[in-house]
Amino acid sequence: MSLFNALFPAKCVICSSLFVFEDQNLVCDECLSMINKEYVEYCSGCGSKIKNCQVCFKKRVFHRIHIFKNNDRYITELIYHFKMKGYKNLSNVIAEKIQDDLTDFVKKESIDIITYTPLDKITLKERGFNHLEEILKKIFPTYLIWEVVEKIKKTELQMDLSRDQRLKNLKGAFCLKDISIKNKRILIFDDIMTTGSTMKEVCGAIKKGKPDRVYGYVIAR
Ligand SMILES: [Zn+2]
Ligand SMILES: [Zn+2]
Repeated sequence: MSLFNALFPAKCVICSSLFVFEDQNLVCDECLSMINKEYVEYCSGCGSKIKNCQVCFKKRVFHRIHIFKNNDRYITELIYHFKMKGYKNLSNVIAEKIQDDLTDFVKKESIDIITYTPLDKITLKERGFNHLEEILKKIFPTYLIWEVVEKIKKTELQMDLSRDQRLKNLKGAFCLKDISIKNKRILIFDDIMTTGSTMKEVCGAIKKGKPDRVYGYVIAR
């Protein structure tokens, strides 16, 4: 910790209290300590809030989906500043939180390839990085991380739309890349799940490559 940090503490973007910082000057330790693994009730086939949902009773979306925690203002703010405001060093903080849980899941399910929801080319250029890839790179060796699907259409931000609009917005947005994923176990990583329609679309695109199984991992829902 430098003398500068002690003399000029930062203001936490979540709770507004002043704090002395070490590696990042946005979120105080107290707010970070609120972000932990917790029990979430959800359908293990699609992540919806209903356990044993009817959709997955007929046909499961994912072989299994895993959710780290419930959605709350701590994780939402943290991810917002990382992803939308471009504070790239927050990837360390987030990676540290989920590392053990995500690594256990990958080992337990013998995952071959870890992928993430891609950004379209324009958005990627604007932001300069895919925040999901940044988190994964902190946790796993790069040979495990592949961009299996590409986003070929620029879509509206899902959070601004109604359920029907969300589905329409995403239609045809994702396309499987020209790589072989046949008989592989693929994990899709995403940050915050609301209706889950983005992950379902990505999953649908991946299934065209005839993988063995498709899994999902979400930080918060
Ligand atoms: Zn705080
Ligand atoms: Zn379901």
